[in-house]
Amino acid sequence: MKSDLSTSVLRTDLHTHTDFSDGHDPLERVVAAAESAGLDTLVLTDHVRSDTTYLPQYTAAVRAARATTRVTLVCGVEAKIMNTDGHLDLPDDLTGVEHIALADHRFPLPDGPAHPEEIRSLLNAGTLTSAAVLRMLVAATTRAVEAVPGRRTAHLAHLFSILPKCGLAEDAVDAGLIAPLARACRQRGVAVELNEKWRCPSPRTAALLAHAGVRLGAGSDAHRAEAVGAFGWVTGALASAEQRISP
Ligand SMILES: [Zn+2]
Ligand SMILES: [Zn+2]
Repeated sequence: MKSDLSTSVLRTDLHTHTDFSDGHDPLERVVAAAESAGLDTLVLTDHVRSDTTYLPQYTAAVRAARATTRVTLVCGVEAKIMNTDGHLDLPDDLTGVEHIALADHRFPLPDGPAHPEEIRSLLNAGTLTSAAVLRMLVAATTRAVEAVPGRRTAHLAHLFSILPKCGLAEDAVDAGLIAPLARACRQRGVAVELNEKWRCPSPRTAALLAHAGVRLGAGSDAHRAEAVGAFGWVTGALASAEQRISP
């Protein structure tokens, strides 16, 4: 049986895409899908980079769509974490952007983002240790949480999805490693999503974060309208995380 907590968490989709970036469907269809899925809140998180120019049209479209639906629409963007300073790949002008999904699309090295295959090669060559890789990733993510610009809300998108791409298991992330990240999330009010598309973070990691006072959320990472609010894996993972933290 679902707890009250997971029932309310599952009424918000923290992570969705429209055809403003690489989603298949226009905003109106994504909003209609959120209504059909019974969501209370839909967070739109189209991809941006520093050179993205569509934000004025995007934020205006989300504003206009609010008059057409009972679902609360949050105008967000998804941006990648660039380096161990937690720099985010965002345009300078974020007018109208209310929320930022912080994403590990590339591995954040001290001097910039690296393809996960490059990290895999450095690990295989012995140039980097898995402990150093984990430390860098957690430090970069922690600083990104602290660097969310303005008074915007934010959440961590598909946390640790990059680890298996680098050839590392998420199981190597322990409570000690995660403590500073959890503290930053708690202090800044940044949630961590359980991501339906990438099936991460694991219920074990989610339980560690929740135990440290971090709010968990649900993100479909929908690139098609029919995937909005569809939380098959997330529902089970939330229940499993809750079981681990209940005494
Ligand atoms: Zn992403
Ligand atoms: Zn996404």
